[in-house]
Amino acid sequence: MDNAHHGTDHELLAQLAHQAFARCQEAAANTEIPGQITRTFCSPAIAQLHQQLIGWMQSLGMTCRVDGAGNLWGKLASHPRPDAPSLIIGSHLDTVPNGGRYDGLLGVILGLALAEVVVRRRATLPFALEVVGFSEEEGVRFGTPFIGSLAVVGQCDDALLQRTDANGLTVRSALQLFGCHPDEMNSAALQPARVIAYLEPHIEQGPVLQSAQLPLGVVTSIAGQTRAIAEFCGVAGHAGTVPMQLRRDALAAAAEWILAVERIGQSTAGLVATVGAIEVSPGAGNVIPGAARAKLDVRHAEDSIRSTAVTQLRELGNEIAARRNTSFELSIVHEHRAAPMNDAIAALIEQSLADTGIAPLRLVSGAGHDAAVMARRFPTGMLFIRCQDGISHHPDETVTTDDITAALSTLWFFVQRLTSRQVNP
Ligand SMILES: [Zn+2]
Repeated sequence: MDNAHHGTDHELLAQLAHQAFARCQEAAANTEIPGQITRTFCSPAIAQLHQQLIGWMQSLGMTCRVDGAGNLWGKLASHPRPDAPSLIIGSHLDTVPNGGRYDGLLGVILGLALAEVVVRRRATLPFALEVVGFSEEEGVRFGTPFIGSLAVVGQCDDALLQRTDANGLTVRSALQLFGCHPDEMNSAALQPARVIAYLEPHIEQGPVLQSAQLPLGVVTSIAGQTRAIAEFCGVAGHAGTVPMQLRRDALAAAAEWILAVERIGQSTAGLVATVGAIEVSPGAGNVIPGAARAKLDVRHAEDSIRSTAVTQLRELGNEIAARRNTSFELSIVHEHRAAPMNDAIAALIEQSLADTGIAPLRLVSGAGHDAAVMARRFPTGMLFIRCQDGISHHPDETVTTDDITAALSTLWFFVQRLTSRQVNP
């Protein structure tokens, strides 16, 4: 690779980072609901965004396609061999209702900025560079996330295609109306030999980088998650007439258990444990609660630590219930395993952060990402970008151009390091 222009890299990177920042603002205009940023799977807003991105891709000489699952791909064939495997950079294009400008989209726009660095530097890479904009990650329209990336790893099955949205429309018909051919879903799947690595730049959606005063971090793992409902049942009664020692107060039992959830979260490194909702019945100020249902969320980078915590919480619930003469039941609603990122890719990202002059902070992603799905089939890594106050899924999401410059610089070093690894393995 030609490194002769190295001295002027920073100027180019800063210029392209400003362009990337401006593009994030421009792309925000693609929305289903004026005044918000709302883009759901296969909506006209996504179609408009595709047109905008295709314009930017084509101006770099990239070849564009939309696959059977509605994912947008742009390929920069910087290598003369048409069957050269790809480094894929990207993220998702959909948003939560009234979301932000950067969640998902920034990863795609940064992929384009990186492609532009390659073009402007006239770099010849030993691989193709592909930018992907996944069709669906947030799970808003069909109540299930990752439709786009699941298709790419060959796991978008019939059951998923048959799911319906609020209007009774299936995933399959939504794709057809979008102009896709869901029967070619299998063609959306990429063979492992086609992919050198998938790298997802994404805003952190948390406050860790900001509190460490670092613009970027390398993700080592995407946490596994257990969601469960804890139910305590006692006996409802009159708040004035039932003496304290004769009560079987379900909410008081639940309250004791909720504090145990917090305690276990606090006393286990890397564990997060939350009760985010509670329902009490009968639910009146002058009635002793007869039943309390609490919604539990537990996450950790290591599945064994998460399941130990859940077992502990089950035992504590039983113990509290026995002491307070209530019943206790913990029902698991949803569970998914942790997705460790590829060690070699994480190491390359760390080195590229150091090249950029940034201390390589390692962190676990508490939120799910397409990278968790892609990691099932391809060597996968994630680069986190600081967002102000950890705010995301909200119009106030904020990322600075300086941090985008740092991210682009890290991606560019990553490409150069990956190139020398391919050339001199
Ligand atoms: Zn996201």
